Formats: sequence, C-alpha cells, structure tokens
Amino acid sequence: MITLETSAVQDRLVELIQLQVLYNRLHAVQQKKGDLPRQIEELQDQAAALVHSLQELSRQIDQIEGEIRTLHVSNDSLRDHESKLQKTLMAVRNEQEYYKVEADLKETQLTIEKNLKDIARLKHRLEAFQQRKAAEEERLREIQALMAEKEEALSAISRETHKQETELKERIDKLSAYLAQQDERLFRLFERRRRSLREGRALVPVATLTEKEERVACGGCYTLLPRQLQWQLTQRNTIFVCESCGRILVDAAFFEEVAAAMP
Ligand SMILES: [Zn+2]
Repeated sequence: MITLETSAVQDRLVELIQLQVLYNRLHAVQQKKGDLPRQIEELQDQAAALVHSLQELSRQIDQIEGEIRTLHVSNDSLRDHESKLQKTLMAVRNEQEYYKVEADLKETQLTIEKNLKDIARLKHRLEAFQQRKAAEEERLREIQALMAEKEEALSAISRETHKQETELKERIDKLSAYLAQQDERLFRLFERRRRSLREGRALVPVATLTEKEERVACGGCYTLLPRQLQWQLTQRNTIFVCESCGRILVDAAFFEEVAAAMP
C-alpha cells in the first residue's frame, strides 16, 4: 500500500479533506452552468460561419447583378444599332451594300439574342443565390435568438453563483497557502492529482460495498482495498493513496465529520 510521509498526519489529513470539500462545493456550483458555456461557444462559431458565407453570397449576387446590367446596356445600344440598320436597309443603293447591311443586321440580332439568353441564365443563378441568402439569413436570425436566450440564462446563473464562487475560491486560496506552508510536497502532490483526475477529486472517502461483505473500495475507482487497510484508515494516522487511481483515501466517517464541521 502506498503511503505519504508527513508530520502531524491528522492535521494534514483534516486540511486535505477541507480543501477537497471546498473544491467539491466549487465544482457543484460551477456545474449549475452545465453545458451552457460550450453551447454558446458552438452557436457563436455557427453564427460566424454564416456571416462569412453571407458576405460571400452578397459578393456573388452583386457580381451577377453587375453582369446582367452590363448585358442590358449592351442590348439597348445593339437595338438602337438594329433599328438604324433596318432603316438603312430600306434605302440601300445596290446589292453589295444590301448584303453588307443585312449581314451586320443578322449579327446584331444574334448578339441581342445571345445576350438575352445570357441574361436569362444569369437571372436563374441570381435567384438560386438569393434563395440561399434568404435561407441563411433566416438561420442566422434563429441562431442569434437562441444565443441570446442561452446567454441570458447563463448570466442569470452567473449572477446567482458568482458570490458563492468568489467566496469558495478565497477559502481555497487561503487553505492552499496554509497547507503549502505546512508541507509543500504534499500540497503539490494533491494539486497535481486534482488537476489530472475527473471532477478534481484528488481525495475521496472510501466506499463500503455492502454486497461484498462490507468490504471497502476506493471511492474514486472502486478498486477493492485489503481488509487490514480498512482498519488502518479508521486510525487516521497515515495518508494512504489508491494504488489503482492515485487518489488519497480517507475513512468515510472521518470525511463526513470534517465536512459537517465546515461552515
Ligand atoms: Zn482508486
């Protein structure tokens, strides 16, 4: 069994339990915010992607509208040219001139037709882009509304928990400083475990497994502990560490006593 050497073991154990209880309380307070911060972050990412996409769509729409305008302007002057040619055709003096004007007229009319086809094709594309833009704008409005709702819920919880969080953090800082002063190595070890373990539970009361003839197990990973350790833990004069998960183990009644005495 792994044990940690320190002086005034019972005092250190009490301090470690107190520190863990404060962290457990802080964790519970922070849990009230639940998944909201992550959800808001995700919505922000979605909104940013949509804003970007909408900018790109607007740019493409502007470009197509510009192309359509240019084609209309071009057709206006081509139609002027067409009517001039039609008048000229009535007044030509010879066959050679007639063919020349007629060829020019044909080409002008073909260009007008081609331009009209291009306009129709571009309008079709424009419509598709506008529909996509409208759909994305609608989606963006929905996301922004949802985001505002969640932000409001989060700030309501934050207003409620801020004071508790601040108080708990102050108590944690004070106790941490004290423990570090008493046994720097022990404090660092606790901190390392706390940062690496799930929910920051570096210290756990042992759990009694009634279905296993009252055997005790680590309260973190539920590995069964040797029977003699069960008795040693009640003595409260050694710091034991779970061999499987590295959590500091304490007698359950001891943990309850210390926790109950804390304001
Ligand atoms: Zn364990």
